Amino acid sequence: MSTVADIARPAKPALAASQENSGAAPSLAGAGRAEIARALGDLGVPENQRRMRVAQLWQWIYGRGATGFDDMSNVGKELRGALGDHFSLARPQIVSAQLSADGTRKWLLRSQPGTSAPAEFECVYIPEEDRGTLCISSQVGCSLTCSFCHTGTQRLLRNLTAAEVAGQILVARDALGEWPGAERPTDGALPLAPRAITNIVLMGMGEPLHNFDNVRDAMATASDNEGLGYSKRRITLSTSGVVPQIARWGAEAGTMLAISLHAVRDELRDELVPINRKHPIRDLLAACRAYPGVSNARRITFEYVMLDGINDSDADARELVRLMAGIPAKINLIPFNPWPGTAYDCSPWDRIEAFAEIINRAGYSSPVRSPRGRDIMAACGQLKSASERQASEVKASKAGAKSS
Ligand code: SAH
Ligand code: SF4
Repeated sequence: MSTVADIARPAKPALAASQENSGAAPSLAGAGRAEIARALGDLGVPENQRRMRVAQLWQWIYGRGATGFDDMSNVGKELRGALGDHFSLARPQIVSAQLSADGTRKWLLRSQPGTSAPAEFECVYIPEEDRGTLCISSQVGCSLTCSFCHTGTQRLLRNLTAAEVAGQILVARDALGEWPGAERPTDGALPLAPRAITNIVLMGMGEPLHNFDNVRDAMATASDNEGLGYSKRRITLSTSGVVPQIARWGAEAGTMLAISLHAVRDELRDELVPINRKHPIRDLLAACRAYPGVSNARRITFEYVMLDGINDSDADARELVRLMAGIPAKINLIPFNPWPGTAYDCSPWDRIEAFAEIINRAGYSSPVRSPRGRDIMAACGQLKSASERQASEVKASKAGAKSS
């Protein structure tokens, strides 16, 4: 029995979509204050009025979830008309939306209409009893080639713009009825918390510290108190270990930090997370110790994917505990999520438990991230590749039909 509800809007053919993208007005949904001010300047709004106008638009876009300019009752009719003639508030388009039996939602998105080089990227929502986590992407593909990660097999196409990164939050809030007066969906589980999205994690496709400025600007929009208002303590950037950018991220963005550690010896980490050859474990941990604001109340999360027979021995667990000494840390054990063609298997459950036990005995909490949304392939990078695979299968069968 299939447990997957496909709540997709039909995908448009790629050509039609790119024609539509090139002709459409640029969108201000996901834009930062500076970009909105620039747009107003282009429309001839005098400089001394721009701040006030930006504040008004900001409230509508990020406080109320406006999808058009017509409702903006405190903005003059003339300016509303000019905005509507030249800009839109279109969100990234939903290519497909899937709902897992466990309430996990996954969207494959395409850039807002009006984006010059439209791209596809994905975003996942994971409801739990007390929280709802939105996992967002920062790049299309990834230039790093972590051997267990499916995104690592897809070459980097481009960085997402700040508007595309923040736009993922708008799409999710639309779908989850997370705007004043909007209705929550009833087709899947949601947390009991007053907000459907309580946490944001940069754990989708891509290495966020390789797209530093855009991700920083998008997180400034996400954490802005007059708009989306997510506390920086509830935003987590996950990095594979771009050591030279870690302190800068702390200073300029100041969110929580997660490190994809996955191995406790350089020899193995060089293989699993190849950026380790440039920035070995010792340098990575030194950057963690120096991360601005780190304390027992603001711990760094160390992610550790459990790979059968590779990194899951008792000796590995003990070494992990030793490495964590002096770092306010949380350890997050992630069961490996297999993908077609991977050489790895997930560690058996009793091995994961034994590993967690060693860490717990040392005084660290080590929650095992429960696999979510497996029925919709919610692992990093998998929805997009599934859709690409489908497209290439269609092409292949068309080619087959021609030659036969
Ligand atoms: N590039 C960043 C953030 C995106 S990956 C980083 O590497 O941290 C988010 C997390 O998912 C990382 O910890 C990554 O190692 C992990 N991950 C990737 N593929 C996975 C898989 N197949 N199963 C389990 N975790 C995976
Ligand atoms: Fe890129 Fe992160 Fe995947 Fe490594 S784990 S390939 S850094 S997305």
